[in-house]
Amino acid sequence: MPLNIIFFGPPGAGKGTQAKIIEDKYGLKQLSTGDMLRAEIKAETELGLAAKKVMDRGELVSDQIVIDMIAGRVDSPECAKGVIFDGFPRTEAQALALDAMLKARGQSIDIVMELKVDDGALVARIEKRAKEEGRSDDNVEALKNRLAQYRSYSAEVLPYYNAPREIAVIDGMAPIADVTVQIENILNLGQAA
Ligand code: ADP
Repeated sequence: MPLNIIFFGPPGAGKGTQAKIIEDKYGLKQLSTGDMLRAEIKAETELGLAAKKVMDRGELVSDQIVIDMIAGRVDSPECAKGVIFDGFPRTEAQALALDAMLKARGQSIDIVMELKVDDGALVARIEKRAKEEGRSDDNVEALKNRLAQYRSYSAEVLPYYNAPREIAVIDGMAPIADVTVQIENILNLGQAA
């Protein structure tokens, strides 16, 4: 059976870094709606151009856009061992759509993890990433919005996943390798269950 995981965490929490490590080690596929949207922007598609305006303000793009992007990927062979959902779902409507999508395939979400990092550390990480990667939403104003968005959408979506399972809380302040160990411990528990 595929193993489906959701990574929750504020911008700069290290979801992308950890997802890449887990992808390489376990053959799961990271599906990041943020990465997919940035690919659309880079390719200068109509969708990308519309999304960029919204993303640069640190606001959410429409549910239908991200749901369609995810739906277009879950059946690809690289997802056969399972998916790490990163940055999705961000609303209850997205969570419901994801559940329906997985259910139709005889699957479900197996593990939900939340990476916790202090706001101060996030700002420092994002400032560093702004210099390294030049993402147009990595500026102080948009970051403030994205953090506020994260607080509000996690308050909307996390309770949806808190029952019947528990959300695994990861200390995202630890060094990268230690965070990976925390995640692997939870993956092993999840697989044994
Ligand atoms: P962050 O580091 O802020 O968590 P992401 O790379 O996940 O960034 O997303 C960047 C932006 O893309 C978000 O601020 C939002 O505008 C848009 N986006 C990504 N995923 C979603 C989603 N599931 N629903 C709505 N908008 C999204």
